[in-house]
Amino acid sequence: MILPGARLGLLGGGQLGRMFVISARTMGYHVTVLDPDAGSPAAQVADRHLAADYDDERALEKLARDCAAVTTEFENVPAASLAFLAARVPVRPGAKAVAIAQDRAQEKTFLRDNGFATARFALVGDAAALESALRAVGSPALLKTTRLGYDGKGQARVDDFGMAQQAFAALGGVACVLEERVALEREISVVLARGASGEVRAYPVTENRHRDGILDVSLAPARVTEELRTRATALATAIAAKLDYCGVLAVEFFVCQDGCLLVNEFAPRPHNSGHWTLDAAATSQFEQQVRALCGLPLGDPRVHGAAAMVNLLGDLWQGANAPAWERILCHSATKLHLYGKPEARPGRKMGHATCLGETPEDVLKSVLRLKMDLGIP
Ligand code: AMP
Repeated sequence: MILPGARLGLLGGGQLGRMFVISARTMGYHVTVLDPDAGSPAAQVADRHLAADYDDERALEKLARDCAAVTTEFENVPAASLAFLAARVPVRPGAKAVAIAQDRAQEKTFLRDNGFATARFALVGDAAALESALRAVGSPALLKTTRLGYDGKGQARVDDFGMAQQAFAALGGVACVLEERVALEREISVVLARGASGEVRAYPVTENRHRDGILDVSLAPARVTEELRTRATALATAIAAKLDYCGVLAVEFFVCQDGCLLVNEFAPRPHNSGHWTLDAAATSQFEQQVRALCGLPLGDPRVHGAAAMVNLLGDLWQGANAPAWERILCHSATKLHLYGKPEARPGRKMGHATCLGETPEDVLKSVLRLKMDLGIP
C-alpha cells in the first residue's frame, strides 16, 4: 500500500486531474502533475508541476523518480510514455488498457473479439475502404476518427457514399471507424473502480443526455429497469476484468429503441458522468482513483440520494463576464464546481453543478429549472 505522505504522479492537467489532485491532497498525498500548460486546472492545485510534453523523457524520468505511482487523467497520453514510466514505477491503469481506449479501432475490435455487443462497425484505413465499409455497416452511419475524438469532435454523419467521401476528406483522411447510427432510447454509463486484486465497486448506473455531442446532463440513478441496470453493471465489470484493469473505468452504453444494450466506448479514467459522486456518494470517483492507484481497499460507493449534474460550458460566459453564480448558489441542495480555466470558449467545460434530492424525478426537475435560470438551452 502506498500511504499518505507519498507523492503521486498524474499525467494530464485538465479538470479530471484537478479533482483527482484535490482528493489525493485531501487524503494527505503529494501530487506532481505533468502537463505542458503552466496554468492548467490540475497544475493550479498540485504541489508540483512539470511543464513538459507527455513524451519528454527527462520529465517522465523525473516523474518516475519522484513518485510512488503514476496515473493518468486523459487517454491520449502516448502509450509509449506510459510504457516508459511502467518500466520504472507502478502505472495504473496500465499502458495496455489506455492504448486500447485511445484508439477507436482497437477499442471496437477488443469489444467485438471479447463478445461485447457494439453498434455494427467497419474499419476505414483509407478512402479505398469506404465503399465496402458502408456496404457492411449500412446507413445512416457515423464516421469517427480512430484517435483524438472527444465531445462529438472528429465525427460526421454519413447517409450515402458521397457523404462518406466528403466526411472522410473533411476529417483529414485519417484512419476512421464507420459505425451504424443506432436509434437511441437513451444513453447510460457505468463508472466503477477495480483494485489490483480484482475487487470491483460500481456506482449506480447513470443516465446521460448530450447536446451537440457534449454531455449536458447526467442523472443518477438512471431511470431504467433493474434488469438493465444489472446487465450494464455486469458488462462493465466484465470489460474491466478482460482489460485486467486497475483504476476507475467508465463504460458508456446505448440503450436502443429495440431494447438492445450496446457498448459505445470506455474511458480509462474518472468520467464526466461520474462527477455527481463528488456530492452524492460516500466515496467519489476521484477518491476511488487514489485508492486504486495506491493499493488501498476501495471505498464504499453507496449514495446518499439521487443526483443530477449539468455541465457549465464556456457558452455561458459573455466575453469575460461569468454567469450569475448566485442563481446556482441560492439553491441549498445544489453544488457548484468550477475548474479554474482562465478563458471561456464555446463548448469548453468550465465547471458543473449537481442538484441533490430524494428521487431521480425530483433532481431532474431541479436541474432543468437550473438550466432555465442560467439560460442553457
Ligand atoms: P462518442 O464520442 O462516440 O461517444 O459520441 C458522442 C455522442 O454521439 C454519443 O454519446 C451519442 O449521443 C452520439 N452517438 C455516437 N455514436 C452513435 C451511434 N453509433 N449511434 C447513435 N448515436 C451516436
